[in-house]
Amino acid sequence: MTEEYRRTYRSGLSRFDQKRDPVDHQIDPALPAEFAPVHAVQVTRADRGLSRPQFLTSPLVYKTALCGAAVKVELPMEFDTGDEDSCPRCVGPALRNERTPACGWDEVPPSVLDDQPVDEP
Ligand SMILES: [Zn+2]
Repeated sequence: MTEEYRRTYRSGLSRFDQKRDPVDHQIDPALPAEFAPVHAVQVTRADRGLSRPQFLTSPLVYKTALCGAAVKVELPMEFDTGDEDSCPRCVGPALRNERTPACGWDEVPPSVLDDQPVDEP
């Protein structure tokens, strides 16, 4: 089976609400009432899919949206470039099938950030 490699994007939010659980009084992350702006998060090949929103509660696990924003909630649905809640700075790169910029919180080895411009011979 051959398949043209096309990047896919999932919806992501850069914030979440916190609410206190009425039973155990723990503070739990909750989906915000307002979703906008919804960012595009590149889905990696190794990704096994989500069945429910995933809260990324530590800067160590934040994901990076196509626009460079830190994503703290990953939603189990595809990013919709036509939705009015979609982040306008994510829509363009998503339509062009671009990858996440190299200023991310993960997936980017530190050496990439230190990359010096190479002198042309
Ligand atoms: Zn965005």
